Amino acid sequence: MESKFLKHIDRDEIVAIVCDLVGLDTTNPPGNEHLCKETVTRAMESLIMEVSYYEKEPGRTNVVGRAGSGAKSIGFVSHMDVVPPGEISNWDTPPFEPTIIDGRIYGRGTLDDKGSFACAYSACKAFLAEHTDFDGTIYLIAAADEEMGSELGIIYLVEECGLKFDVAIIPDGGRMDLSIYGEKGILWVDLTSIGVQAHGSTPELGRNAIVPMAELLAEIKTLDLGVNFDSEFDGWTMNIGTIQGGSSTNTVPATARATIDFRLPRGITKQDVFTKIEEKIALVKLRSPDSEFQIKALHETEPHLSDKNSIIIRSFDRAAKRLNLPMNYETFGGNTVAKNLFFAGITSVVHYPGDDKLAHVPNEFVIIDELVTGSVLYAETLEAYFFG
Ligand SMILES: [Zn+2]
Repeated sequence: MESKFLKHIDRDEIVAIVCDLVGLDTTNPPGNEHLCKETVTRAMESLIMEVSYYEKEPGRTNVVGRAGSGAKSIGFVSHMDVVPPGEISNWDTPPFEPTIIDGRIYGRGTLDDKGSFACAYSACKAFLAEHTDFDGTIYLIAAADEEMGSELGIIYLVEECGLKFDVAIIPDGGRMDLSIYGEKGILWVDLTSIGVQAHGSTPELGRNAIVPMAELLAEIKTLDLGVNFDSEFDGWTMNIGTIQGGSSTNTVPATARATIDFRLPRGITKQDVFTKIEEKIALVKLRSPDSEFQIKALHETEPHLSDKNSIIIRSFDRAAKRLNLPMNYETFGGNTVAKNLFFAGITSVVHYPGDDKLAHVPNEFVIIDELVTGSVLYAETLEAYFFG
């Protein structure tokens, strides 16, 4: 790979930042992102950035570094919280003791999203070294609370703290050769079956809530939302995620509850989903006329599609081509902060200096060479964005 930015990239420094951050347990909940404040601040200050702190709740620190003050602006948005390590016995190395083996760093958050932060930092460093007098503003953001919905993170920064930039790079989704430009909407549906409680020895005095729920879920298995949706999306998905019901074996259960996760492309609405579920409920009621269901939405986001002709996606693509890095553009069913920013009027590039299949799994790792490549790619993107 040939780039004038390469000479400014310090591989050992990237590794040191990743290892420092991964050694700090910022599992969310509870978060404790304040633990990362010192390492992140030191990195930002080495770039002569102005550093600001924002906390919606104590300990849930967002750190924002700013370089330059020109009108044209861009933000790098990474996050400092991580998902729980899960079953520790599935890890070959301790999740919060970063371990380097064969050019990879293992540990929770090595990729998602502490490696990404180190990569964004290193890109800013290389760009600022080449362009000391650039006319613009770069924000380097180490946000809180991404894994639990960003209410204390980017949403707070943009909606309550007045943080604003024109476009963003979000190293938190996709792959080295894949950028995400659209995300499906999320619809979480809560289904409740209502029965009548009674002693388990006299079931005829009660009404079992579990049995109709089991029937309904068997019907929902074949629920079909059709193919009339925006062709930039690959389809819709449905996952029955939880089921609960009853209180003891010798009691007729009064309630049973299930939750379902739908991911919806543009063109399929919440009302479409509810109508299909109501049809399935009607089928169950034909067999069990006294069954009773409630249905409600627990959480919903809208699908979004970024304009592939936007200046940030064009700049990113030009940078990838300049480096001869193959790059594909897709939509997906995950939700990143790109969605929050999109609805705040900010277009983003979503891209990982790694592979998002490694996020959230045991033995998460990042390839050090890819963090170096990612740094060069983002530095080239900054140049293409600011200098055309
Ligand atoms: Zn992430």
